Parts: sequence; structure tokens; C-alpha cells
Amino acid sequence: MKIDLHTHSTASDGRLAPAELVHRSAAAGVELLALTDHDGVDGLDEARQSAKDIGIRLINGIELSVTWHKRTIHIVGLHFDPNSAPLQAGIESLQDFRRSRAIEIAAKLDSAGITGAYEGAQAFSGGNMLGRMHFANFLIAAGYAKNVRSVFKKYLVNNKPGYVSGDWATLNEAVSWITQAGGVAVIAHPARYKLTRTKLRKLIKDFMAAGGQAIEVVSGSYCINEMNTMACHAVDFDLYASCGSDFHDPDFPWIKLGQLPDLPDKCKPVWDLF
Ligand code: AMP
Ligand code: MN
Ligand code: MN
Ligand code: MN
Repeated sequence: MKIDLHTHSTASDGRLAPAELVHRSAAAGVELLALTDHDGVDGLDEARQSAKDIGIRLINGIELSVTWHKRTIHIVGLHFDPNSAPLQAGIESLQDFRRSRAIEIAAKLDSAGITGAYEGAQAFSGGNMLGRMHFANFLIAAGYAKNVRSVFKKYLVNNKPGYVSGDWATLNEAVSWITQAGGVAVIAHPARYKLTRTKLRKLIKDFMAAGGQAIEVVSGSYCINEMNTMACHAVDFDLYASCGSDFHDPDFPWIKLGQLPDLPDKCKPVWDLF
């Protein structure tokens, strides 16, 4: 069965509307799908309707931004009640931070001589919550960089003109918002944080102490070695294993919907919990 439990739509920084994402996933053979937009659940109603119409199973999802030991870590939530009050309040606080951060990013770019970034980014977000990807799209369209990778490197990461630091949710908060909503918390793409083995194990321990149950063993951005390493951590810690492409955009050819290797046999699939 093809499963993809990490995808983005226009409700955050993805390029496809939720319904379009569901259609393309079904066309790619995905049978179990989660829409996991950054810090929001606004795309879920449209995705659910579309999944019902075409007969694919949709799991409620979200990808929460967390600051842990001064690093940004992403925690995916799966199979929760989107109307849960603590989750809704948590989302509101993250979106408040996104709003003020977007204003600051635009102001910093302005100081660097790049005008109109706020309106430019908004044109790409279609009025939805602003993320760095929308600024990236604006900067590329305005000729400041050739592609997403280079625009992040030149403008949107630490020590670059359009980077704004700040605190997202704590790990405990994010995990508890998900579990209080009846969901399963998953460490998103753990190989991408470039943590030492010791630090990654510390993250897993803190995450489990907060009530987290799973890690992404299979991700669209992993090489095979990273997948095998994460499978070992999942077994060592008796965590459930998830798999998700982190699909954003059909024009990013390196990440396709639902085109993922199977979970290694030794892993416990997170979907056993749904
Ligand atoms: P934000 O949550 O608004 O800070 O933006 C983070 C998002 O930007 C990630 O989810 C990715 O979609 C994208 N992103 C971050 N870093 C990079 C990068 N180096 N190259 C391409 N996309 C990136
Ligand atoms: Mn993103
Ligand atoms: Mn992420
Ligand atoms: Mn993601």
C-alpha cells in the first residue's frame, strides 16, 4: 500500500490547493494520505471533502514548528481532532509569531535594499499564512536568485539579510497540543537537523518524555543510509515509524508524492495506531 503522511498545500507553503493535492496523490497511487501544513489546519476540510469524493483515506495532519535548544525542529501531528481547544490556541500563537516575523523579514530585506517583499510574498501566499518559502518565491521572481536552494542560502537562513530568529513552540507544548487532541506526535525528518548521534538521542528522549510516539524513518529527502539509521533509532527506542515525502511543489522534481521506499521490516508502522 502506498502511504504518504507528510505533505503541504497552499494552506501553508505548498503549491497545490488541498483538493488538487489529494487528486494528485490518488493519481500517484497513494491510498493513505496526511496533509500536514505548517502550523495550521485550514486545508483539512477541503482535503477531506476531496478525499471522500475520490475514495482515498485522509488522516488529519499538521507540522508544528518547535524551538529546541535554539534549533528549529518540526513535529508532525497525525490523526487528531482539529477542533481541540489547546491545539487551536497553540496554532494561534504560532500564527501570531509568523505574522510578526513576516513583517520583520520584509523590514530586514528592505534595509538590504530589497523593497516590496511583504506584498511580493503575499502575492505567492494568496493571503494565507506567510512562510519563508513565499519570500523565496518573491526573491526568485524578482531576480535575486535562481532557485529555492540558492535563495535560502543567500537570504533566508541564519546570518543572512532576510533571516529573523525567534521562538516557536517548545517541544513539550507542541507534543502536548497533539496528544491532547487525541493525535500521534512524530519527529519530522530527523536526519535533516544535522544533529550528532548524542544530540539526536537527547531529542528523542525529550520527545518521548513529552508523550511523542513516532519518528519519520522514511522521508522524501533522505538517502538510504539516513533511512537505515532512523530505523535503528526507532527500534532502539521502541518508537513507531512514519513515512512521508514532505511534498511541496510539483516543480521540485526531487520530491514526488507517494514515491517512497517501504518501511524497513523491523519497524512498527505508525498507521497501526489509526
Ligand atoms: P518557515 O517555516 O516559514 O521558516 O519555512 C520553512 C520552510 O522553508 C520549510 O518547510 C521548507 O519548505 C522551506 N525551506 C527551508 N529551508 C530550505 C532550504 N534550504 N531549501 C529549500 N527549502 C527550504
Ligand atoms: Mn515547507
Ligand atoms: Mn519540515
Ligand atoms: Mn514539511
